[in-house]
Amino acid sequence: MVKKTTQAAADSGEKQDGAPSREKKLYDVSFYLDWCKGCGICMAFCPQEIIGSDKNGKPIMEEPDRCIGCRFCEIHCPDFAITVSSRKPKRRKDDV
Ligand code: SF4
Ligand code: SF4
Repeated sequence: MVKKTTQAAADSGEKQDGAPSREKKLYDVSFYLDWCKGCGICMAFCPQEIIGSDKNGKPIMEEPDRCIGCRFCEIHCPDFAITVSSRKPKRRKDDV
């Protein structure tokens, strides 16, 4: 039997012992608003429906913790105005 590496197990959401990890992966979605023309593609096609728009029609993240990191918004933005990256969960106070 081939054992998964630590990184492969982490990427697949498993712990090293093969049990599913409970730690949810989080993502940051950044908008470079100077390049955004407010076309609405990212808002219309986000599968989680978590990109809203401000009064100028520019995107805002409404529920960032629900982002699944699919990168649909980043790939389809015609103005290359979106960057999706992994985000580490905030450390708890008792973590040292
Ligand atoms: S897809 Fe790109 S250009 Fe269109 S609203 Fe979203 S960020 Fe702006
Ligand atoms: S990465 Fe996917 S889920 Fe996250 S905001 Fe973009 S389209 Fe929505």
